[in-house]
Amino acid sequence: MSASDDDENAAIPVNETPPLNSDNDGKQLNVIWDDNKIEKFTDNNGKQHWRCLWCGRSFQYWNATKVLFHVNKQAGGAIKAYKSTKIDKHHKAEYTRLFNKLSQWKTSLAQLADGKKRASDEYIDTATELYASTK
Ligand SMILES: [Zn+2]
Repeated sequence: MSASDDDENAAIPVNETPPLNSDNDGKQLNVIWDDNKIEKFTDNNGKQHWRCLWCGRSFQYWNATKVLFHVNKQAGGAIKAYKSTKIDKHHKAEYTRLFNKLSQWKTSLAQLADGKKRASDEYIDTATELYASTK
C-alpha cells in the first residue's frame, strides 16, 4: 500500500526550486557572521568593526545581537533611508530565524533571571523586616 504511494510521489515533478538570485541561497546560517552580507574587519588599531553590505554602513564591536537587530530592522523596512536596498527573501528568512533563536534564548535567560529576582525580592523583604525591627 505504501509502496504505491511512494511511486505516486516520485512521479510528481519538483517545481519548487527557488530562484537563485543570491550567492548564499539555500545556505543556513549558524551565526549571523556566516552571512555573506555581513563583513567582519579590524582597523589598524586592531579594533573590531563590521560592515553591513545591505546599507554599506560600518559599526564597531563584533556584537551578533546588534547585527541581528540591524538586519532585521532593515528587512522590516524600518530604516527608511536605505529602502532602495532590497533584502531578498532568503536572507530575510534567515535573519528572522536567527532572530527568533536569539529571542528564545533571551526568554530562557529572562526566566532564569526572573527566578533570581524572585529570590532577591524575598531577600529584600527579609532585609526590610530586619531593618524595620531595628528601628
Ligand atoms: Zn545595514
